[in-house]
Amino acid sequence: MNQKSYDVVIIGAGIVGSMVARELSKYQLSVAVLEKEADVGMGQSTSNSAIIHSGHDPEPGTMKARMNVRGNELWYQIAPELDIPLVNTGALIVAVGAEEQAGLQPLLERGRENGVKGLEILTREQVLEMEPHLSPDVTGALSTPTAGVVDAFQGVLGAAENAATNGVEFILNAEVRGAVVEDGVLKAVETTQGRVAATWFINAAGVHSDEILHMAGDRPEFEITARRGEYFVFDDSKFRVNNVLFPMPSEKGKGILVTTTTHGNTMVGPNSDSISDKEDHAVTEHGMHEILHGATKLVPSVSPRDVIATFAGLRATGNYKPGGHGKDFLIEVSSAVRGLINLAGVESPGFASSPAIAEYVAELLKGEGVTLTEKADWTATRRRIPRFKEMDHVQRAAIIERNPAYGRIVCRCEEVTEGEILQAIHSPIPATTYDAIKRRTWLGTGRCQGSFDYPRTMEILARELGMSMTEITKKGPGSVFLYRQTKEEVV
Ligand SMILES: Cc1cc2nc3c(=O)[nH]c(=O)nc-3n(C[C@H](O)[C@H](O)[C@H](O)COP(=O)(O)OP(=O)(O)OC[C@H]3O[C@@H](n4cnc5c(N)ncnc54)[C@H](O)[C@@H]3O)c2cc1C
Repeated sequence: MNQKSYDVVIIGAGIVGSMVARELSKYQLSVAVLEKEADVGMGQSTSNSAIIHSGHDPEPGTMKARMNVRGNELWYQIAPELDIPLVNTGALIVAVGAEEQAGLQPLLERGRENGVKGLEILTREQVLEMEPHLSPDVTGALSTPTAGVVDAFQGVLGAAENAATNGVEFILNAEVRGAVVEDGVLKAVETTQGRVAATWFINAAGVHSDEILHMAGDRPEFEITARRGEYFVFDDSKFRVNNVLFPMPSEKGKGILVTTTTHGNTMVGPNSDSISDKEDHAVTEHGMHEILHGATKLVPSVSPRDVIATFAGLRATGNYKPGGHGKDFLIEVSSAVRGLINLAGVESPGFASSPAIAEYVAELLKGEGVTLTEKADWTATRRRIPRFKEMDHVQRAAIIERNPAYGRIVCRCEEVTEGEILQAIHSPIPATTYDAIKRRTWLGTGRCQGSFDYPRTMEILARELGMSMTEITKKGPGSVFLYRQTKEEVV
């Protein structure tokens, strides 16, 4: 069998795997990322609240607290380097009533202990002036000015593309299904694309990270439970909020929040339901009621009539048996098998923490004796595909002059051109499915929800990838649009 071999193999191309890939791409190492889906960022990293939390919430002394506070700081440096939309909105943890109001001071002290800067308790009047849509029942709020809102997909893609440009190999549609352990050393993994060997494996497989541990013979007692969170997205012409608005936290988590995304749509959610199927992204009637109830407590004018989309994400919550790690991230060099680093149970605030986790992985490797020699030609920057819709007339004329494909509009609602689609297909992490193009260009997200652009986009994909139209998929194997030619004989 043709076996590939690397210094480091990362399992999973979510934000954690992609940030680790980018970090390790700084050094003279051969690195590959194995991802079971047809694109990067198909897991929880792109179905979440997309908040760069300040770090006020995690228990002091935990990995969550440490990684979140450092990650928050790093995001504001990395986002401009990678052209990732990130808005430093700040967040308010809003109290309603005397009991909740009394909880603000301990929350402030916890945040300060974690090292979060700028925390302040605001009066009812200050809060209502900042956020006029808030309920008049509000009694005060904790302000966390370092929090922000990020474009989650661009976050993953930015890190992954930059890593790829710096030499990391992304192997998509490669699901890890087995491990080869010899004399207590993890030597290789079996994937749907063959065996892949490495000196070090980084387990960043999200809700499936417990399965990777178990394949390698590590921590049989550790399990991931998928905790589903559902959301409503509102038309961008409806109301917006300036800060991220959180209710007071409870034992279930940070609660149902109200936020305006970097695209300008206000979004509410998530609830929290433990489910047995780790791929079940269904949105439920019960969930919708729960979210509306939670959101209207903060913003009474939230109405289901203005909802344009719903979605759900699955949190990778670690279940630690007695004597385990509490509710913390499980970030460690495996003590059961040599050659494995686990980044498991990375639920919220994992997105915010991801650059710090990546930095820490490099430290762990160094501590294990791996030589990290910096590359002389490493490049820190990456640019997004320029959006035709956002260009003025002069810029449009210039880009069409250089490349006539920019003169052909494929998606009318969002004004996405063939030029942008071609860039997505021929980018460092090539878009090979309809959804991969949609997520890179924003095509199909407007009022007609893709009904105009589908066939044309499929034609372009088929032409550029040398495939037939019946092979083009929405999001990878098992999601073809067309089963056969209209006049094909069916036997
Ligand atoms: C509802 C919700 C709200 C959240 N809100 C926030 C927030 O506002 N701020 C914040 O900081 N965090 C938030 N989080 C948490 C955050 O999304 C996660 O901590 C983060 O995305 C974890 O990234 P990851 O790369 O570990 O996981 P994932 O994004 O799930 O990536 C894991 C990858 O591994 C791949 N994979 C799995 N098994 C295999 C296999 N066998 N072989 C190959 N590949 C495999 C998957 O396909 C996937 O792409 C939220 C999460 C949810 C669900």
